[in-house]
Amino acid sequence: MTAKYSPKLSVVIPMYNEEANVQRFCRRLFDTLTGLPETWEVICVNDGSSDRTLDLLLAERSNRNGLTIVNLARNFGQHAAVMAGFTHSRGEWIVTLDADLQNSPEEIPKLIEAFRKGHDLIGSIRLDRHDPLFRKWASRLTNGLIRRISGISLTDFGCMLRGYSREVVEGILKNPEYRTFIPALGALFAGNPVEIPVHHEERAAGRSKYSIMKLISLQLDLVTGFSLWPLRALFFVGTAIAAAGLLMGLLILASRLYYG
Ligand code: UDP
Ligand code: MG
Repeated sequence: MTAKYSPKLSVVIPMYNEEANVQRFCRRLFDTLTGLPETWEVICVNDGSSDRTLDLLLAERSNRNGLTIVNLARNFGQHAAVMAGFTHSRGEWIVTLDADLQNSPEEIPKLIEAFRKGHDLIGSIRLDRHDPLFRKWASRLTNGLIRRISGISLTDFGCMLRGYSREVVEGILKNPEYRTFIPALGALFAGNPVEIPVHHEERAAGRSKYSIMKLISLQLDLVTGFSLWPLRALFFVGTAIAAAGLLMGLLILASRLYYG
């Protein structure tokens, strides 16, 4: 298997309006990768940024080896951007992370260690998470939901510092939906998952790209994309309301006929 893949490791990063982070993120990521014995490539996906993210990435590429830029024509969303990165990746091991340095690129070797032990999905649990309280609550809800849907009891699906084997990524890529939730999809295809604790920082610069509406839409994608029960629940609720309406109509008709 080893000879089939070149390079061994692909690192995929979605970027949307990250001009304030591109340079320091690249510096820290490339410094970390340079210390690895394995071969690697970096795939930065510019998700339709309207700021200088693409220009800065192009400048980085002219100074560094092993950086591929995937440029999306408009903003498709974080998970679609990661999908686009996956399609361009060639590694046997694929690592994703965010560009805002909430996860440290310096922790990638921990994931590599788990790959070496034969794990095909490496999740991460955020120690001392630095996010607003409502985000932490929303995550708790989401994590519980995915656990039920996928039957895989990982703790933290929201942290995007994750590792996937080539087989798991191929499984994910067979899913034609672009509105999806990659950690949950990955969990469906994994045979030997593991979780490792990682540190979590505040966003280095800029603001979260998730508005409340985007977050709600992500949760809805998750519920409707991975389970039939919302459809079934709606069917039963609809049937119950229709039956109640019919019954009420019959009652009114009967009382009208009976009492005039
Ligand atoms: N991102 C993206 N497209 C989007 C939203 C976000 O590519 O439409 C990227 C963003 O640049 C970052 C990662 O996805 O690298 C996570 O986004 P963010 O940090 O805003 O999410 P949060 O940490 O608030 O969940
Ligand atoms: Mg973030």
